[in-house]
Amino acid sequence: MGYRGRFAPSPTGALHAGSLVAALASWLDARAAGGAWLVRIEDVDRPRCIEGMDRVILAQLAACAMHSDEPVRYQSARDPIYERALQRLVEGGRAYPCGCTRKQIDEAWAARGFAHRRGEERVYPGTCRDGLHGRPARAWRFRVEPGRVDWRDRRLGPQFQDVEREVGDFVLKRADGLWAYQLAVVVDDAEQGITDIVRGADLADNTPRQIQLQRALGLAQPHWLHAPLVLGADGHKLSKQNGAQAFDAGDALGALQAAAAVLGLPPLSAATPAEWLAAAVPAWAGMMRTLRERISP
Ligand code: GLU
Repeated sequence: MGYRGRFAPSPTGALHAGSLVAALASWLDARAAGGAWLVRIEDVDRPRCIEGMDRVILAQLAACAMHSDEPVRYQSARDPIYERALQRLVEGGRAYPCGCTRKQIDEAWAARGFAHRRGEERVYPGTCRDGLHGRPARAWRFRVEPGRVDWRDRRLGPQFQDVEREVGDFVLKRADGLWAYQLAVVVDDAEQGITDIVRGADLADNTPRQIQLQRALGLAQPHWLHAPLVLGADGHKLSKQNGAQAFDAGDALGALQAAAAVLGLPPLSAATPAEWLAAAVPAWAGMMRTLRERISP
């Protein structure tokens, strides 16, 4: 199968300097491989999405001469597909209803003498694995497999995580009825025939969960490349949550050049964004060759 890549922004804010890095990396990687580049609007978390932001994002990409090779897909239109995937997991014994509130999860850990969290995320203690204990179902969770998930990132090299210990059974369908990112992204990547996922390094630690879901659903595993993040003045990654500004689409060449510098590409001269992109493709291909030799001698 030929290379198929994607850029999958959530329409919760305009693209900032950091999201442009991910968009550019995914575009360059697809073009360097002679493949297709698709845009998918990940609008499953409806309360966080902003009306019209999809159009803003697509206009920002267009200003940089990046256009989806196929019609843009919207996750909000795909509930039945996610529902079918959930049903398959339920039938295979890999998904179960959960009646726990956040407070009950914290209490379950406190009863064992510690607070088990990873950053802001609570590790699920497995309370409802063997039934709801008379409580009403709230969410649906994935029954993770024990043991370490090993995977390889094209930039970061060998990676691993013990999903059961570090995350626990994670949510597939939330208590508010919305689909979780993990399920939607895995189902869509497979259904769109995505062979290579290029995205920001902040998403790298979702990969082991996604691999477990791919295995449970019998889906092909793509390749991954997690691109460097842009850090703000405070040393944290730029994000919509910490108020990162939209990049200046009026100076698309400048924005592309800044994104390229984050990716480690040299300055390129060009009169238009399209010309700039064309010049960046061989530079990216050369950089990827060097990277391949470095991380898999
Ligand atoms: N929608 C996710 C985001 O905007 C990206 C998902 C992905 O690339 O896997 O952060």
